Amino acid sequence: AEEKLRTTEKLAVVGELAAGIAHEIRNPLTSLRGFVQLFQTESKEENPIHRIMLEELERINMIASELLVLSRPHDVIFSKTNVTNVLSDVIHLLSAEAKANGSSLSFKKPYPLYLYGDKNQLKQLFINVIKNAIEASASAIIVTMQARDGSLTVKIKDDGYGMSEERIERLGEPFFSQKEKGTGLGLTVSHKIVEQHEGTIFYDSTVGEGTTVHLAFPLLKEVP
Ligand code: ADP
Ligand code: MG
Repeated sequence: AEEKLRTTEKLAVVGELAAGIAHEIRNPLTSLRGFVQLFQTESKEENPIHRIMLEELERINMIASELLVLSRPHDVIFSKTNVTNVLSDVIHLLSAEAKANGSSLSFKKPYPLYLYGDKNQLKQLFINVIKNAIEASASAIIVTMQARDGSLTVKIKDDGYGMSEERIERLGEPFFSQKEKGTGLGLTVSHKIVEQHEGTIFYDSTVGEGTTVHLAFPLLKEVP
């Protein structure tokens, strides 16, 4: 419970201050990127520095976007959403990245299941969680979903490097990352999205064996 409070307090700080900065950073970032691209087209030989600059600018942009998701709960538009389709799209979107990392990504597509939710936010949530599975060096990632007892559950199971209990407790904490190029914001954003959808998320993980992320949301039964 103490852990939870600390995370929420940090989130409030991130939400109000850093996200304001993130917003301000975007315009100068866009203009910088334009200049680097211009240098790139103007130079006769390929210059690796241009590529590195673009990559680093992309990284700042990524951090800014994640901070903005945290700060803008009001932009969320809820409607009847076909989660089966959203997941299919995400699997499709990440298939090349999974393949490049040596992970097989499988989704047993069930019949259409609906949530009352924000399609883009749900998409972002699934991307964040599945990307983590890919980045955990999983060779197999299996995504399943089902409707049970008024809940829609989604399970993302990977056989990657797994996590210790201490690490699991810190998931969702802003900037908590074990990756050289991680932002440590993916799960902060994800937890916020789960909360907005009145859902739950929990992690079942064993070091050296893998991780299963369990997501559950209230199911939309009525088809309006
Ligand atoms: P990032 O991916 O940028 O590091 P996240 O918030 O997405 O930030 O994840 C935080 C940390 O949680 C990761 O750095 C990693 O150590 C751990 N983690 C998350 N998902 C998994 C997973 N499926 N397997 C192993 N570790 C994970
Ligand atoms: Mg991540």
